[in-house]
Amino acid sequence: MRIDVLTLFPEMFIALDSSLIGRAREKALFELCCHNIRDYSCDKHKKCDDTPFGGGAGMVMTPQPIHDCIQAVDPQHKAKRIYMSPRGKKLNQDIVVNLSKCDNLLLLCGHYEGVDQRVIDLDIDMEISVGDYVLSGGELPAMTLIDAVLRYVPNVLGNSQSTAEESFSSGLLEYPHYTRPQEFCGLCVPDVLISGNHKNIDKWRREQSLEITRRVRADLLEGK
Ligand code: SAH
Repeated sequence: MRIDVLTLFPEMFIALDSSLIGRAREKALFELCCHNIRDYSCDKHKKCDDTPFGGGAGMVMTPQPIHDCIQAVDPQHKAKRIYMSPRGKKLNQDIVVNLSKCDNLLLLCGHYEGVDQRVIDLDIDMEISVGDYVLSGGELPAMTLIDAVLRYVPNVLGNSQSTAEESFSSGLLEYPHYTRPQEFCGLCVPDVLISGNHKNIDKWRREQSLEITRRVRADLLEGK
């Protein structure tokens, strides 16, 4: 998979150099290219924002640098082009799994009040939100999407079982995990987990998943 990111702050993506995603990048399991939108500005001061027509607070990102950057990076429209936006479809595991099947993704990160609508109309395939709150820029949402999607790219996760069993993949939240020591601050690991009886362990985990989901996310059980 190749992911192109269009941003005014490419240096923020250093966060993806660590941990699992960093190792996957070193192993060339995917390609991540960050493009600075400012490099494409035709303005003599490399300006990328301006005041909104119709008035109001804040600045709007101008269409020219973004449009030219998209045309340069993805001239044949091979990529699924996504604008990270609070107005978009809310990201969930189904969207993540679908996007993980794409060979090319292009993520546009907005700033200030957002981007000129014409660039969305001309160049963007879909808008994705990471939740019902407003952030100052699209970089953290883009990194969230990249991290979630890459976990489904072959060999990125050490153990391919991990995505099959975790929260949301069964439509439920995941059961609790325990590791050593067996007793910690007076709290013991549930007996069933050290019983060695895998049938009982599976049953306990399933019950715990249902119970946790019922308690904190009953909406996920609707229609089940
Ligand atoms: N004025 C806009 C908010 C702009 S926030 C509005 O009210 O809808 C600036 C940028 O941050 C956006 O262009 C977008 O790229 C990003 N952003 C903010 N919140 C986001 C969210 N919940 N999901 C995805 N991107 C978000």
